[in-house]
Amino acid sequence: MNRRTFISASAGAVTLPGLAKPTSLAEHRIDAIEYRTVNLSWPRHVGRNSSKGLHGRGPARHTVCLLKTDQGAMGWGQMQGNRRGIKAQKDQVIGKKVSELIDPAQGIRQAAWHALDVPLHDLAGVILGLPVWQMMGADKPQLSKVYSGMIYFDDLDPEDNPAGIDKVLENCAWDRDYGYRQLKVKIGRGNKWMPPAEGLKRDIEVVRAIHASFPDCEILVDGNNGFTVETFIRFLEGIGDIPLFWIEEPFHETPVEWRALKAWLVAHGREKTYRADGEARPDFPVLEQLEKDRTLTMRLNDICGYGFTKWRALMPTLKAGGIAASPHTWGSALKTVYTAHLAAAYGNTPTIEGVTSADSDVDFGENRIVQACLHPSSRPGFGLGLPAA
Ligand SMILES: [Mg+2]
Repeated sequence: MNRRTFISASAGAVTLPGLAKPTSLAEHRIDAIEYRTVNLSWPRHVGRNSSKGLHGRGPARHTVCLLKTDQGAMGWGQMQGNRRGIKAQKDQVIGKKVSELIDPAQGIRQAAWHALDVPLHDLAGVILGLPVWQMMGADKPQLSKVYSGMIYFDDLDPEDNPAGIDKVLENCAWDRDYGYRQLKVKIGRGNKWMPPAEGLKRDIEVVRAIHASFPDCEILVDGNNGFTVETFIRFLEGIGDIPLFWIEEPFHETPVEWRALKAWLVAHGREKTYRADGEARPDFPVLEQLEKDRTLTMRLNDICGYGFTKWRALMPTLKAGGIAASPHTWGSALKTVYTAHLAAAYGNTPTIEGVTSADSDVDFGENRIVQACLHPSSRPGFGLGLPAA
């Protein structure tokens, strides 16, 4: 298995996307919506973060949606919501021309197709013979760095015999070996799982140990809203001059708290560290307000939950305001690929959240990490191969 790519040993034949020759979207009508289960499990057990308990081994049976046309084209991908939601729309989708459902220049034509946003983008790319990033208007892909988003509190487990910091370093080593040169470290052990002072001390020790062991890796930290301004500043004081690429969700976004933290960061030589928010229960008016004066500098809404088409509309606005974007992908390696195509087209993403899937039956094809950047496939659609049924 080549661990430097997103591919791993495929369990069987895969259906690679593509038609014999490109056609127009108006020539195709949807004639079937189907479902398939794919394995996207993670390479290791993932433990706790500041707010949630054990995360487990990832989605081993993940339902995806297939759209087939009367001309023999097929697009597939992660759907938003569940089958029931799609079933309710089936009558409005079946028989429609693909051109009535999606405009390659903008995305889905009605917010009502939100659940099928990603499969429709894949299908349109397949029909047009273009990778999604190119279909969205780019001549060549703009490449982004990619970080491992899988460094959790694995020092704390198993509960009866905690593994300690070495376990976290072992995970970092695996991710570095896989190709990552950025590591996002979960912090906030004192929020729930350890006495506050002890938890803060451990967070600091973990970040210090990672920095010492992997000096060629950039560090991002994610508090999952488990801090106050005061405890977060104590964390920053504790790590001294270790550089941080970004700070994510130290607390739930409020103007008072983020402005206080920003002031501290600017006063202490950390003004360039990205201030990232918008993943958990995003408060959009507050995010927009804080982006206006650049209190926040990085937007994180989920690539699928917020919506691929809505992200396409949001990107130029963020870019014009000097705000970077890194759509949240945690959970599924497919979402990492969708974000890679979005980033490749719009070029406003300094780094992409990498979710690794080992032993997946999906063929990730050319979507892979090369020299610490995530390259999107040049194949039609998202370039993801679906395992044979
Ligand atoms: Mg997060």
